Amino acid sequence: MLLETQTDLISNVDIDHFFDAHSKYTYEEYAQKAIQYVSSFLNTNKFFSGESPSNLRSKVDLIKADANIKLSIDEALLEIKELYLDHTIAFHHPNYVAHLNCPVLLPALIGDFIASSVNTAVETWDQSTSATLIEQEMIRWITSKMGLPSSSDGVFTSGGTQSNFMALLMARDHYAFKHYGLNLKENGWSDVVGKFRFFCSEKSHFSIKKNAALMGMGYDAVIPIATDERMKMKPNALVQAIEKEKQLGNIPIAIIGTAGTTDFGSFDPLSTISKIAKEYDIWFHVDGAYGGCYVLTDTHKHLFNGIELADSITIDFHKTMFQPVCSSAFLTRDTKHFKYISYYADYLNPLEHRDEECPNLIEKSIQTTRRFDALKLWFTLKMTTEKTIGSFLEKVHWLALDLYHSIKDDDNFEIAHKPELSTLVFRYKANGVEEDTIHNTINLYIKNTLFKSGQASIASTKLNDKTYLKFTLLNPKSTINDLLSIIAMIKETGNNYKSSN
Ligand SMILES: *Cc1c(COP(=O)(O)O)cnc(C)c1O
Repeated sequence: MLLETQTDLISNVDIDHFFDAHSKYTYEEYAQKAIQYVSSFLNTNKFFSGESPSNLRSKVDLIKADANIKLSIDEALLEIKELYLDHTIAFHHPNYVAHLNCPVLLPALIGDFIASSVNTAVETWDQSTSATLIEQEMIRWITSKMGLPSSSDGVFTSGGTQSNFMALLMARDHYAFKHYGLNLKENGWSDVVGKFRFFCSEKSHFSIKKNAALMGMGYDAVIPIATDERMKMKPNALVQAIEKEKQLGNIPIAIIGTAGTTDFGSFDPLSTISKIAKEYDIWFHVDGAYGGCYVLTDTHKHLFNGIELADSITIDFHKTMFQPVCSSAFLTRDTKHFKYISYYADYLNPLEHRDEECPNLIEKSIQTTRRFDALKLWFTLKMTTEKTIGSFLEKVHWLALDLYHSIKDDDNFEIAHKPELSTLVFRYKANGVEEDTIHNTINLYIKNTLFKSGQASIASTKLNDKTYLKFTLLNPKSTINDLLSIIAMIKETGNNYKSSN
Protein backbone atom coordinates (compact mmCIF):
# COMPACT_ATOMS: atom_id res chain seq x y z
CA MET A 1 0.00 0.00 0.00
CA LEU A 2 1.15 3.51 -0.82
CA LEU A 3 0.80 4.72 2.76
CA GLU A 4 3.06 2.00 4.13
CA THR A 5 5.86 2.57 1.64
CA GLN A 6 5.84 6.27 2.45
CA THR A 7 6.08 5.60 6.17
CA ASP A 8 8.94 3.17 5.61
CA LEU A 9 11.00 5.98 4.12
CA ILE A 10 11.25 7.58 7.53
CA SER A 11 13.74 5.84 9.79
CA ASN A 12 13.63 5.60 13.57
CA VAL A 13 16.50 8.05 13.87
CA ASP A 14 14.59 10.69 11.90
CA ILE A 15 11.50 10.16 14.01
CA ASP A 16 13.65 10.60 17.09
CA HIS A 17 14.51 14.11 15.97
CA PHE A 18 11.12 15.35 17.15
CA PHE A 19 10.84 16.52 20.72
CA ASP A 20 8.24 14.14 22.16
CA ALA A 21 7.85 11.27 24.61
CA HIS A 22 9.36 8.82 22.15
CA SER A 23 12.64 10.79 21.86
CA LYS A 24 13.14 11.48 25.56
CA TYR A 25 16.48 9.68 25.81
CA THR A 26 17.78 11.10 22.54
CA TYR A 27 16.85 14.57 23.80
CA GLU A 28 18.87 14.01 26.98
CA GLU A 29 21.80 12.59 25.04
CA TYR A 30 21.88 15.46 22.52
CA ALA A 31 21.52 18.10 25.21
CA GLN A 32 24.31 16.61 27.32
CA LYS A 33 26.65 16.37 24.35
CA ALA A 34 25.87 19.91 23.25
CA ILE A 35 26.48 21.18 26.77
CA GLN A 36 29.91 19.55 26.76
CA TYR A 37 30.85 21.39 23.60
CA VAL A 38 29.52 24.70 24.85
CA SER A 39 31.31 24.36 28.15
CA SER A 40 34.60 23.62 26.45
CA PHE A 41 34.05 26.94 24.63
CA LEU A 42 34.46 28.47 28.11
CA ASN A 43 38.08 27.27 28.18
CA THR A 44 39.02 29.67 25.42
CA ASN A 45 41.90 31.86 26.55
CA LYS A 46 41.25 34.59 24.00
CA PHE A 47 38.03 36.51 23.35
CA PHE A 48 38.37 35.47 19.67
CA SER A 49 40.72 33.19 17.74
CA GLY A 50 41.66 35.94 15.32
CA GLU A 51 40.72 33.77 12.32
CA SER A 52 40.47 35.97 9.22
CA PRO A 53 37.17 36.42 7.33
CA SER A 54 38.70 34.74 4.27
CA ASN A 55 39.80 31.69 6.28
CA LEU A 56 36.31 31.43 7.77
CA ARG A 57 34.74 31.76 4.31
CA SER A 58 37.01 29.03 3.00
CA LYS A 59 35.43 26.48 5.33
CA VAL A 60 32.82 25.90 2.62
CA ASP A 61 32.45 22.20 3.39
CA LEU A 62 31.43 23.05 6.90
CA ILE A 63 29.18 25.98 5.98
CA LYS A 64 27.27 24.31 3.18
CA ALA A 65 24.00 23.05 4.64
CA ASP A 66 22.41 21.32 1.64
CA ALA A 67 25.14 18.79 0.87
CA ASN A 68 22.69 15.94 1.55
CA ILE A 69 25.19 14.14 3.76
CA LYS A 70 23.57 13.13 6.98
CA LEU A 71 25.54 13.84 10.15
CA SER A 72 25.29 12.22 13.55
CA ILE A 73 25.05 14.45 16.62
CA ASP A 74 28.78 13.95 17.28
CA GLU A 75 29.70 14.88 13.72
CA ALA A 76 27.43 17.92 13.68
CA LEU A 77 28.81 19.16 16.99
CA LEU A 78 32.35 18.67 15.81
CA GLU A 79 31.62 20.67 12.67
CA ILE A 80 30.03 23.50 14.58
CA LYS A 81 32.98 23.58 16.93
CA GLU A 82 35.37 24.03 14.00
CA LEU A 83 33.19 26.50 12.19
CA TYR A 84 31.72 28.52 15.02
CA LEU A 85 32.54 27.74 18.64
CA ASP A 86 36.30 27.90 18.00
CA HIS A 87 36.03 31.30 16.30
CA THR A 88 33.09 33.11 17.78
CA ILE A 89 33.24 36.05 20.15
CA ALA A 90 33.35 35.25 23.87
CA PHE A 91 31.37 37.98 25.60
CA HIS A 92 32.32 36.60 29.00
CA HIS A 93 36.01 37.23 28.31
CA PRO A 94 37.50 40.21 30.21
CA ASN A 95 39.14 41.49 27.01
CA TYR A 96 35.77 41.92 25.32
CA VAL A 97 34.79 45.52 26.12
CA ALA A 98 33.27 46.62 22.81
CA HIS A 99 29.49 46.70 22.61
CA LEU A 100 26.43 46.29 24.80
CA ASN A 101 26.68 42.48 24.90
CA CYS A 102 26.62 41.20 28.44
CA PRO A 103 27.93 37.99 29.93
CA VAL A 104 24.82 35.91 30.68
CA LEU A 105 23.61 34.40 33.92
CA LEU A 106 23.15 30.64 34.28
CA PRO A 107 19.55 30.90 35.58
CA ALA A 108 18.67 32.88 32.45
CA LEU A 109 20.23 30.18 30.23
CA ILE A 110 18.14 27.53 31.93
CA GLY A 111 15.01 29.62 31.35
CA ASP A 112 15.90 29.98 27.68
CA PHE A 113 16.64 26.27 27.33
CA ILE A 114 13.25 25.36 28.76
CA ALA A 115 11.42 27.97 26.68
CA SER A 116 13.08 26.77 23.47
CA SER A 117 12.42 23.10 24.14
CA VAL A 118 8.76 23.49 25.06
CA ASN A 119 8.44 26.09 22.27
CA THR A 120 5.69 28.10 23.90
CA ALA A 121 4.46 30.99 21.78
CA VAL A 122 3.07 33.77 23.90
CA GLU A 123 0.74 35.53 21.49
CA THR A 124 -2.47 33.88 22.65
CA TRP A 125 -3.66 32.29 25.86
CA ASP A 126 -4.42 29.02 24.11
CA GLN A 127 -0.75 28.72 23.08
CA SER A 128 0.77 29.81 26.36
CA THR A 129 -1.50 29.63 29.45
CA SER A 130 0.66 30.37 32.50
CA ALA A 131 3.51 31.67 30.28
CA THR A 132 1.22 34.66 29.66
CA LEU A 133 0.90 35.11 33.43
CA ILE A 134 4.69 34.99 33.84
CA GLU A 135 5.22 37.63 31.15
CA GLN A 136 2.54 39.81 32.73
CA GLU A 137 4.21 39.42 36.12
CA MET A 138 7.59 40.51 34.70
CA ILE A 139 5.84 43.55 33.22
CA ARG A 140 4.12 44.32 36.53
CA TRP A 141 7.46 44.04 38.30
CA ILE A 142 9.32 46.42 35.99
CA THR A 143 6.51 48.99 35.68
CA SER A 144 6.36 49.18 39.47
CA LYS A 145 10.15 49.62 39.67
CA MET A 146 9.76 52.54 37.26
CA GLY A 147 7.00 54.02 39.42
CA LEU A 148 4.36 53.88 36.68
CA PRO A 149 0.70 53.92 37.83
CA SER A 150 -1.53 50.83 38.02
CA SER A 151 -3.05 51.73 34.63
CA SER A 152 0.35 50.98 33.08
CA ASP A 153 1.16 47.90 31.05
CA GLY A 154 3.77 46.52 28.68
CA VAL A 155 4.93 43.73 26.48
CA PHE A 156 8.17 41.93 25.69
CA THR A 157 9.82 42.88 22.40
CA SER A 158 12.79 41.83 20.29
CA GLY A 159 14.85 44.77 21.56
CA GLY A 160 15.14 48.49 22.08
CA THR A 161 14.72 49.22 18.39
CA GLN A 162 11.30 47.58 18.31
CA SER A 163 10.31 49.13 21.65
CA ASN A 164 11.24 52.58 20.39
CA PHE A 165 9.22 51.91 17.24
CA MET A 166 6.17 51.14 19.35
CA ALA A 167 6.71 54.33 21.37
CA LEU A 168 6.93 56.58 18.31
CA LEU A 169 3.93 54.90 16.70
CA MET A 170 1.79 55.26 19.82
CA ALA A 171 2.86 58.86 20.35
CA ARG A 172 1.99 59.71 16.74
CA ASP A 173 -1.32 57.90 16.55
CA HIS A 174 -2.38 59.19 19.95
CA TYR A 175 -1.62 62.78 18.98
CA ALA A 176 -3.45 62.42 15.66
CA PHE A 177 -6.47 60.96 17.42
CA LYS A 178 -6.55 63.40 20.32
CA HIS A 179 -6.05 66.60 18.33
CA TYR A 180 -7.43 65.80 14.89
CA GLY A 181 -9.83 62.91 15.51
CA LEU A 182 -7.79 60.89 13.03
CA ASN A 183 -7.68 57.10 13.13
CA LEU A 184 -4.36 56.47 11.41
CA LYS A 185 -4.47 52.74 12.19
CA GLU A 186 -7.59 52.24 10.13
CA ASN A 187 -7.44 55.04 7.60
CA GLY A 188 -3.74 55.49 6.99
CA TRP A 189 -1.71 58.59 6.26
CA SER A 190 -2.97 62.13 6.62
CA ASP A 191 -1.05 65.20 5.40
CA VAL A 192 -0.89 66.80 8.82
CA VAL A 193 1.32 63.90 9.97
CA GLY A 194 4.05 65.26 7.70
CA LYS A 195 4.33 68.20 10.11
CA PHE A 196 4.69 66.06 13.28
CA ARG A 197 8.06 66.39 15.03
CA PHE A 198 9.92 64.25 17.61
CA PHE A 199 12.62 65.76 19.84
CA CYS A 200 15.57 63.83 21.27
CA SER A 201 19.18 64.52 22.18
CA GLU A 202 21.82 64.44 19.47
CA LYS A 203 23.37 61.55 21.42
CA SER A 204 20.19 59.44 21.32
CA HIS A 205 20.10 56.05 19.60
CA PHE A 206 19.89 55.89 15.80
CA SER A 207 16.75 53.77 16.04
CA ILE A 208 14.73 56.94 16.73
CA LYS A 209 15.53 58.29 13.28
CA LYS A 210 15.36 54.90 11.63
CA ASN A 211 11.93 54.24 13.12
CA ALA A 212 10.63 57.66 12.07
CA ALA A 213 11.72 56.74 8.54
CA LEU A 214 10.04 53.32 8.75
CA MET A 215 6.85 55.11 9.83
CA GLY A 216 6.93 57.13 6.62
CA MET A 217 7.84 60.37 8.39
CA GLY A 218 11.50 60.53 7.41
CA TYR A 219 14.65 61.39 9.36
CA ASP A 220 13.66 65.06 9.26
CA ALA A 221 10.77 64.37 11.61
CA VAL A 222 13.38 63.94 14.36
CA ILE A 223 14.88 67.14 15.75
CA PRO A 224 18.25 66.59 17.49
CA ILE A 225 18.85 68.65 20.63
CA ALA A 226 22.29 69.80 21.75
CA THR A 227 23.91 68.23 24.80
CA ASP A 228 26.10 69.67 27.54
CA GLU A 229 29.67 68.64 28.43
CA ARG A 230 28.29 65.62 30.29
CA MET A 231 26.45 64.55 27.09
CA LYS A 232 23.02 65.29 28.58
CA MET A 233 20.23 67.02 26.67
CA LYS A 234 20.12 70.77 27.34
CA PRO A 235 16.59 71.69 28.47
CA ASN A 236 16.91 75.27 27.17
CA ALA A 237 17.92 74.03 23.75
CA LEU A 238 14.92 71.68 23.83
CA VAL A 239 12.47 74.50 24.52
CA GLN A 240 14.08 76.67 21.84
CA ALA A 241 13.85 73.86 19.29
CA ILE A 242 10.19 73.23 20.09
CA GLU A 243 9.39 76.94 19.71
CA LYS A 244 11.34 77.13 16.48
CA GLU A 245 9.50 74.17 14.95
CA LYS A 246 6.18 75.72 15.93
CA GLN A 247 7.15 78.94 14.21
CA LEU A 248 7.99 76.97 11.10
CA GLY A 249 4.45 75.59 11.16
CA ASN A 250 5.47 72.14 12.37
CA ILE A 251 3.75 70.27 15.20
CA PRO A 252 5.78 68.97 18.19
CA ILE A 253 4.25 65.66 19.32
CA ALA A 254 6.82 63.91 21.54
CA ILE A 255 10.06 64.24 23.47
CA ILE A 256 12.37 61.26 23.85
CA GLY A 257 14.68 61.35 26.85
CA THR A 258 17.51 58.82 26.99
CA ALA A 259 18.31 57.01 30.24
CA GLY A 260 21.86 55.95 29.40
CA THR A 261 23.05 56.97 25.95
CA THR A 262 24.67 54.20 23.94
CA ASP A 263 28.09 55.84 23.73
CA PHE A 264 28.39 57.80 26.94
CA GLY A 265 25.86 56.24 29.31
CA SER A 266 24.58 59.74 30.01
CA PHE A 267 21.13 60.35 31.48
CA ASP A 268 19.09 63.22 30.09
CA PRO A 269 17.48 65.33 32.87
CA LEU A 270 14.27 63.30 32.89
CA SER A 271 12.47 65.30 35.54
CA THR A 272 12.97 68.62 33.72
CA ILE A 273 12.08 67.06 30.37
CA SER A 274 8.91 65.57 31.82
CA LYS A 275 7.81 69.06 32.89
CA ILE A 276 8.50 70.46 29.43
CA ALA A 277 6.49 67.64 27.86
CA LYS A 278 3.63 68.36 30.24
CA GLU A 279 3.72 72.07 29.49
CA TYR A 280 3.39 71.42 25.75
CA ASP A 281 0.95 68.56 26.40
CA ILE A 282 2.99 66.12 24.32
CA TRP A 283 4.17 62.51 24.71
CA PHE A 284 7.18 61.78 26.93
CA HIS A 285 9.11 58.63 26.04
CA VAL A 286 12.19 57.40 27.90
CA ASP A 287 14.67 55.22 26.01
CA GLY A 288 16.23 53.18 28.80
CA ALA A 289 17.55 50.39 26.55
CA TYR A 290 20.97 50.66 28.14
CA GLY A 291 20.46 52.45 31.47
CA GLY A 292 16.94 51.29 32.39
CA CYS A 293 18.11 48.36 34.53
CA TYR A 294 20.09 50.77 36.74
CA VAL A 295 16.74 51.44 38.41
CA LEU A 296 17.77 48.42 40.55
CA THR A 297 20.83 50.21 41.97
CA ASP A 298 21.24 52.58 44.91
CA THR A 299 23.89 54.60 43.08
CA HIS A 300 21.78 55.65 40.08
CA LYS A 301 18.22 55.60 41.41
CA HIS A 302 18.09 59.41 41.61
CA LEU A 303 18.71 59.73 37.86
CA PHE A 304 15.31 58.12 37.34
CA ASN A 305 13.41 61.00 38.94
CA GLY A 306 10.69 61.94 36.46
CA ILE A 307 10.52 58.56 34.73
CA GLU A 308 7.35 57.85 36.69
CA LEU A 309 5.74 60.56 34.55
CA ALA A 310 6.73 58.94 31.25
CA ASP A 311 4.06 57.96 28.74
CA SER A 312 6.25 55.08 27.59
CA ILE A 313 9.59 53.44 28.41
CA THR A 314 12.02 51.16 26.55
CA ILE A 315 14.17 48.76 28.58
CA ASP A 316 16.59 46.07 27.37
CA PHE A 317 17.21 43.17 29.72
CA HIS A 318 19.60 41.68 27.17
CA LYS A 319 21.95 44.61 27.70
CA THR A 320 22.08 45.22 31.43
CA MET A 321 20.26 42.36 33.13
CA PHE A 322 22.65 39.66 31.93
CA GLN A 323 20.03 37.96 29.74
CA PRO A 324 20.65 36.13 26.47
CA VAL A 325 19.31 37.91 23.37
CA CYS A 326 16.36 38.65 23.09
CA SER A 327 14.91 40.03 26.26
CA SER A 328 13.47 43.49 26.17
CA ALA A 329 10.28 45.32 27.07
CA PHE A 330 8.11 48.21 25.99
CA LEU A 331 6.11 49.85 28.78
CA THR A 332 3.27 52.31 28.52
CA ARG A 333 1.56 54.47 31.11
CA ASP A 334 -1.95 53.44 30.08
CA THR A 335 -2.87 50.01 28.82
CA LYS A 336 -5.54 51.69 26.65
CA HIS A 337 -2.78 52.99 24.36
CA PHE A 338 -2.33 49.47 23.01
CA LYS A 339 -5.47 50.12 20.95
CA TYR A 340 -3.17 51.84 18.41
CA ILE A 341 -1.46 48.50 17.80
CA SER A 342 -4.10 45.82 18.44
CA TYR A 343 -5.69 43.81 15.69
CA TYR A 344 -8.34 41.15 16.10
CA ALA A 345 -7.85 38.17 13.82
CA ASP A 346 -10.69 35.70 13.42
CA TYR A 347 -8.41 32.72 13.72
CA LEU A 348 -6.42 33.91 16.74
CA ASN A 349 -8.13 36.45 18.96
CA PRO A 350 -11.61 37.36 17.70
CA LEU A 351 -12.95 40.47 19.42
CA GLU A 352 -16.32 38.88 20.20
CA HIS A 353 -14.56 36.21 22.29
CA ARG A 354 -12.38 38.64 24.22
CA ASP A 355 -12.01 37.32 27.76
CA GLU A 356 -10.18 39.06 30.61
CA GLU A 357 -9.58 35.67 32.25
CA CYS A 358 -7.61 34.44 29.26
CA PRO A 359 -5.70 37.43 27.84
CA ASN A 360 -4.12 37.30 24.38
CA LEU A 361 -0.83 39.21 24.49
CA ILE A 362 -0.90 39.61 20.71
CA GLU A 363 -3.17 42.60 21.32
CA LYS A 364 -0.13 44.47 22.65
CA SER A 365 2.54 43.33 20.26
CA ILE A 366 3.57 44.20 16.73
CA GLN A 367 4.87 40.63 16.42
CA THR A 368 2.59 37.63 15.97
CA THR A 369 4.50 34.45 16.84
CA ARG A 370 6.63 35.46 19.79
CA ARG A 371 9.14 33.67 22.03
CA PHE A 372 8.61 33.18 25.74
CA ASP A 373 11.47 35.52 26.59
CA ALA A 374 10.03 36.42 29.99
CA LEU A 375 10.93 33.01 31.40
CA LYS A 376 14.67 33.62 31.55
CA LEU A 377 14.09 36.88 33.41
CA TRP A 378 11.77 35.09 35.83
CA PHE A 379 14.50 32.49 36.53
CA THR A 380 17.01 35.28 37.02
CA LEU A 381 14.89 37.20 39.51
CA LYS A 382 14.02 34.01 41.40
CA MET A 383 17.56 32.64 41.55
CA THR A 384 19.89 35.66 41.35
CA THR A 385 17.52 38.32 42.81
CA GLU A 386 17.13 41.95 41.82
CA LYS A 387 19.36 43.17 44.65
CA THR A 388 22.32 41.13 43.42
CA ILE A 389 21.76 42.33 39.85
CA GLY A 390 21.77 45.90 41.14
CA SER A 391 25.13 45.22 42.81
CA PHE A 392 26.56 43.80 39.55
CA LEU A 393 25.56 47.01 37.78
CA GLU A 394 27.08 49.16 40.51
CA LYS A 395 30.28 47.13 40.21
CA VAL A 396 30.68 47.77 36.47
CA HIS A 397 29.97 51.45 37.08
CA TRP A 398 32.76 51.63 39.70
CA LEU A 399 35.05 49.84 37.27
CA ALA A 400 34.42 52.50 34.63
CA LEU A 401 35.14 55.24 37.17
CA ASP A 402 38.29 53.47 38.34
CA LEU A 403 39.52 53.25 34.79
CA TYR A 404 38.72 56.92 34.25
CA HIS A 405 40.79 57.91 37.28
CA SER A 406 43.61 55.57 36.25
CA ILE A 407 44.14 57.11 32.82
CA LYS A 408 42.91 60.67 33.09
CA ASP A 409 46.33 62.12 33.85
CA ASP A 410 48.11 60.02 31.24
CA ASP A 411 49.44 62.18 28.38
CA ASN A 412 48.76 59.37 25.92
CA PHE A 413 45.02 59.58 26.51
CA GLU A 414 42.35 62.19 26.05
CA ILE A 415 39.07 61.37 27.78
CA ALA A 416 35.73 62.52 26.36
CA HIS A 417 33.63 62.38 29.53
CA LYS A 418 33.46 61.20 33.11
CA PRO A 419 31.46 57.93 33.08
CA GLU A 420 27.91 58.15 34.35
CA LEU A 421 27.22 54.44 33.75
CA SER A 422 29.69 51.84 32.53
CA THR A 423 31.23 53.17 29.32
CA LEU A 424 34.38 55.20 28.88
CA VAL A 425 35.10 57.08 25.64
CA PHE A 426 38.68 58.25 25.11
CA ARG A 427 41.33 58.42 22.45
CA TYR A 428 44.98 57.55 22.25
CA LYS A 429 47.22 60.53 21.55
CA ALA A 430 50.70 60.00 20.24
CA ASN A 431 53.33 62.28 21.78
CA GLY A 432 54.35 65.12 19.51
CA VAL A 433 51.49 64.59 17.03
CA GLU A 434 48.94 67.39 16.71
CA GLU A 435 46.85 66.53 13.63
CA ASP A 436 43.48 64.98 14.36
CA THR A 437 43.45 63.11 11.06
CA ILE A 438 46.56 61.21 12.15
CA HIS A 439 45.03 60.48 15.53
CA ASN A 440 41.88 59.22 13.82
CA THR A 441 44.00 56.82 11.78
CA ILE A 442 46.02 55.64 14.78
CA ASN A 443 42.94 55.01 16.93
CA LEU A 444 41.24 52.99 14.21
CA TYR A 445 44.49 51.11 13.66
CA ILE A 446 44.64 50.25 17.37
CA LYS A 447 41.05 48.99 17.43
CA ASN A 448 41.46 46.87 14.28
CA THR A 449 44.87 45.46 15.23
CA LEU A 450 43.73 44.33 18.67
CA PHE A 451 40.59 42.75 17.22
CA LYS A 452 42.32 40.92 14.40
CA SER A 453 44.96 39.48 16.68
CA GLY A 454 42.32 38.28 19.14
CA GLN A 455 43.92 40.35 21.90
CA ALA A 456 40.99 42.62 22.79
CA SER A 457 37.73 43.91 21.36
CA ILE A 458 37.13 47.60 21.91
CA ALA A 459 34.65 49.82 20.10
CA SER A 460 35.17 53.10 18.33
CA THR A 461 32.86 56.06 17.90
CA LYS A 462 32.96 59.65 16.73
CA LEU A 463 32.70 62.83 18.71
CA ASN A 464 33.02 66.23 17.00
CA ASP A 465 34.35 64.43 13.91
CA LYS A 466 37.17 62.84 15.87
CA THR A 467 37.59 59.08 16.26
CA TYR A 468 37.49 57.81 19.82
CA LEU A 469 37.83 54.40 21.42
CA LYS A 470 35.10 53.08 23.69
CA PHE A 471 35.05 50.58 26.54
CA THR A 472 31.60 49.23 27.38
CA LEU A 473 31.91 47.46 30.72
CA LEU A 474 29.27 44.86 31.50
CA ASN A 475 31.24 42.15 33.21
CA PRO A 476 31.16 42.47 37.00
CA LYS A 477 33.87 39.80 37.28
CA SER A 478 36.40 41.97 35.44
CA THR A 479 39.01 43.72 37.53
CA ILE A 480 40.75 47.05 37.08
CA ASN A 481 43.93 45.08 36.28
CA ASP A 482 42.14 43.32 33.42
CA LEU A 483 41.24 46.73 32.03
CA LEU A 484 44.67 48.21 32.59
CA SER A 485 46.21 45.35 30.63
CA ILE A 486 44.01 46.33 27.65
CA ILE A 487 45.10 49.93 28.15
CA ALA A 488 48.73 48.74 28.01
CA MET A 489 48.00 46.93 24.73
CA ILE A 490 46.45 50.10 23.32
CA LYS A 491 49.52 52.12 24.23
CA GLU A 492 51.91 49.57 22.85
CA THR A 493 49.98 49.28 19.58
CA GLY A 494 49.76 53.06 19.28
CA ASN A 495 53.47 53.47 19.94
CA ASN A 496 54.30 50.74 17.41
CA TYR A 497 52.21 52.46 14.77
CA LYS A 498 53.95 55.73 15.40
CA SER A 499 57.46 54.32 15.21
CA SER A 500 56.76 52.38 11.99
CA ASN A 501 55.05 55.26 10.12
C1 LIG B 1 21.02 49.44 22.13
C2 LIG B 1 20.12 50.59 22.19
C3 LIG B 1 18.91 50.60 21.48
C4 LIG B 1 18.56 49.48 20.53
O1 LIG B 1 18.27 48.31 21.24
P1 LIG B 1 18.34 46.86 20.53
O2 LIG B 1 17.97 45.94 21.63
O3 LIG B 1 19.75 46.69 20.05
O4 LIG B 1 17.36 46.88 19.41
C5 LIG B 1 18.06 51.67 21.64
N1 LIG B 1 18.40 52.70 22.45
C6 LIG B 1 19.56 52.74 23.15
C7 LIG B 1 19.85 53.91 24.04
C8 LIG B 1 20.46 51.68 23.04
O5 LIG B 1 21.62 51.72 23.73
